[in-house]
Amino acid sequence: ADNKETLGFQAEVKQLLQLMIHSLYSNKEIFLRELISNASDAADKLRFEAINNDALYGNDHELAIKVSFDKAARTITISDNGIGMSRDEVISHLGTIAKSGTKEFFGKLSGDQQKDAALIGQFGVGFYSGFIVADKITVETRRAGLEATDAVRWESSGEGDYSVEAIEKTGRGTDITLHLREGEDELLSAWKLKSIIRKYSDHISLPIQMAKEEWDEEKKETVTKDELETINQASALWARSKSDITPEQYEEFYKHVSHDFAAPLTYTHNRVEGRSEYTQLLYVPAKAPFDLWDRNKRGGLKLYVKRVFIMDDAEQLMPTYLRFVKGVIDSADLPLNVSREILQESRDVKAIREGSTKRVIGMLEELANAEEQDKKDKYATFWTEFGQVLKEGIGEDMGNKDRLAKLLRFASTHADTADQNVALADYVARMKEGQEKIYYVTADSFTAAKNSPHLEIFRKKGVEVLLLTDRVDEWMLSFLTEFEGKELVSVAKGGLDLGQLEDEAEKKEHEETENQYKELVTKMGEALADKAKEVRVTFRLTDSPACLVADEHELSGNLLRMLKAAGQ
Ligand code: ADP
Ligand code: MG
Repeated sequence: ADNKETLGFQAEVKQLLQLMIHSLYSNKEIFLRELISNASDAADKLRFEAINNDALYGNDHELAIKVSFDKAARTITISDNGIGMSRDEVISHLGTIAKSGTKEFFGKLSGDQQKDAALIGQFGVGFYSGFIVADKITVETRRAGLEATDAVRWESSGEGDYSVEAIEKTGRGTDITLHLREGEDELLSAWKLKSIIRKYSDHISLPIQMAKEEWDEEKKETVTKDELETINQASALWARSKSDITPEQYEEFYKHVSHDFAAPLTYTHNRVEGRSEYTQLLYVPAKAPFDLWDRNKRGGLKLYVKRVFIMDDAEQLMPTYLRFVKGVIDSADLPLNVSREILQESRDVKAIREGSTKRVIGMLEELANAEEQDKKDKYATFWTEFGQVLKEGIGEDMGNKDRLAKLLRFASTHADTADQNVALADYVARMKEGQEKIYYVTADSFTAAKNSPHLEIFRKKGVEVLLLTDRVDEWMLSFLTEFEGKELVSVAKGGLDLGQLEDEAEKKEHEETENQYKELVTKMGEALADKAKEVRVTFRLTDSPACLVADEHELSGNLLRMLKAAGQ
């Protein structure tokens, strides 16, 4: 047709396609999960738009996903009657990658297939995974509300380009047809497709239907009927009772909501009753996403109201420092036409956020305080991936500060390694007789912290010092001034008072030394008048001749360097 145009994929899409086909082949079945997941999202979007515009349903109210195959044509088709796509939407959604974190992802690729496969999984494989098994994909789609003649056909062999053309399509929604590659014929079987659907997509709340097959006694063969049967349980997973959900189902549901490829680290599922009624199913991922530090990053929670999808990324449902949490909140109280603006002010939302925050903290405490090694390992993984983000909570969430402080983990001079595994409580338990404070040093890197001249006296006296090297540490410490009544102090600040750690004889000796060098110190003070505020004799060094310290009430050297680097 003359309306057909051929367009080139965005460079990143081409690269992603190449990578995907080669590194995900051993996992090829996941294409079906991804396409069904998209069909389910499309139904959610239609339901949501229809809240204020019932006409979008036309005369087709029964939302469902249909999977069929054609042995002779060697195709598999996944159809939905969800929101569909307009021509512009097809071009932007199936021709480019608009995700946040895209740049970071492409920057991290190494060329090593195994490593890159894991990265793609983390990035989200999505629609393009169809090309793992297909050498051509045809998408026919009609957006809800548009005319039959406004439908679009998109077609591509997954190399450099794709075509789009206007077509006529009777029903609303999207049909995706995979033209299988040579050698993929085992997928052309009802039994095979059903088993993949049950394995990966059972949690989908819409019915996933296939044509019924029956043994025909006369013909002595299985025949395909006109009748459809539903393959999955087709009820919202979070609304089922916990005892009816297997760990595998929880895991697959996580992959659907998070667009993650790997299993979650842990999850919590509860029905909350009382002033506010809602169901929460919250997951902590095992790996930080590429956009964890993206300022525009949205939240990871889907909001439903009485099973109706309302919005993705509802950032009002979680504090920013828990932005890595994925999952679903289903409220029984909120109105269906709730907007982001209303969410901001709603008291129900506030109650949900507080309740969910406590749940997540509780879930982390369970791992952090566990005796079992596998849980301890999980907490260590969590800390490595998300510890720096959790630290933001110390400054942001006064109400939970004490609980969060117990979840913090640091490197220290006790093991003298960069592993962050010392809890403040561990430190306190190891404090020396007569030690009253918790000591720390901050620096740009672990090596710099570990070799800080400020540590000399502490090493000599066998007093443990926390070694802090994350960017957020200084900021966090301005909110964390004590732990269980013990003051946290920097070893680099002010006239170091070792309190009871210094004995009488030492004190006397120090006074004598100070007197002895009084004149020299005054002269040096004059010579350095425009560089140093004060020069004094120090006892904190054992090997180095001199060091710079910050005044007790001033910003530390490290924070000053950071502010300068940030252009302040
Ligand atoms: P993701 O699902 O993570 O957004 P995908 O690669 O799976 O990424 O899909 C890309 C986009 O294409 C989706 O966000 C959606 O806008 C659109 N899309 C894909 N499949 C469908 C479908 N069946 N119906 C409507 N839109 C779809
Ligand atoms: Mg998808």
